[in-house]
Amino acid sequence: MLIDLHTHLEGRVRPATAVALAADLGLPDRDWAAALTLPRPGTLTTFLDRVGASYPFFSSPDAITRIAREAVEDAAADGVDHLEVRFGPGTHVRAFGLDMDDVIAAVCRGFADGTAATGLPAGVVIAALRSHPDDLNAEVVAAATRFAGRGVVGFDLAGDELRFPDLERYVSLFRAAGAAGLGLTCHAAEAAPGVMARRAVELLGVTRIGHGTHIVDDPDVLAWCADHGVVVEMCPTSNWFTGALAAVADHPAPRFRDAGVPVVLGDDNPVQTGSSMAAERRVLHEELGFSPADLAELDRVSVAAAFLEPGQRSALAARLPR
Ligand SMILES: [Zn+2]
Repeated sequence: MLIDLHTHLEGRVRPATAVALAADLGLPDRDWAAALTLPRPGTLTTFLDRVGASYPFFSSPDAITRIAREAVEDAAADGVDHLEVRFGPGTHVRAFGLDMDDVIAAVCRGFADGTAATGLPAGVVIAALRSHPDDLNAEVVAAATRFAGRGVVGFDLAGDELRFPDLERYVSLFRAAGAAGLGLTCHAAEAAPGVMARRAVELLGVTRIGHGTHIVDDPDVLAWCADHGVVVEMCPTSNWFTGALAAVADHPAPRFRDAGVPVVLGDDNPVQTGSSMAAERRVLHEELGFSPADLAELDRVSVAAAFLEPGQRSALAARLPR
């Protein structure tokens, strides 16, 4: 099975769509394929530059709906069985003066259209950003809760954890998201030390950690995550392309597995890396030594840990190989 539990809408803008939308939006002529994609592993700066090149296309609800619909279509074509996509509306609301609810509704509409066309179920995980002001993030979570049960399934915190290490600021946001029934996750221990993952679980109540690669550097935190069933969302190729890993074979997936930490998989920013869920699963098997039994366990964890609408979990569980 392919259950994508960590991917960003901003990392799923098709280059061909960028070309078409650029004409509609009156953007300057440029080589959008080169602007959006990384031909080889780079640095976090070059990676974020390519992701940021997609931002001008989030300037209208219609464009956002198209991007969201195509994200579902592309995942379906990749063979994905369930899709959860993160999206940080604050960036685009602020840049383009859009209405927060209009932006989230546009994403939900695109996903519903994509699901109707392909049969692939897709949920939205709304992300607050560490670099954004508190009032903007409060607006983001309030809007996310209004769409709970109408396409939005989860809440996340993303952004530079080294420059913005304080998590206390987000306690009330995560409490509100959880009270609305949203699943909770947080990008943590991706750049910062492993202990930040434990703090995110304890302070924010998240059940999942995005990336979490530095957890393995701290044996106490690694054991704590295993004891508490903290699910780590792994995106090996993305970590390689940002320069966090010298080679994809250096990803700590085997160490999580050996420590008993439950793991799931995502393709993070597939347009930038040129990877996909099918490719990420091959990486786990061929580069990181995951056996068929390890992959079956990852599938079971993914079904249990996914943020789903009522009724979806049993439907997904029924598709697990027996
Ligand atoms: Zn991410």
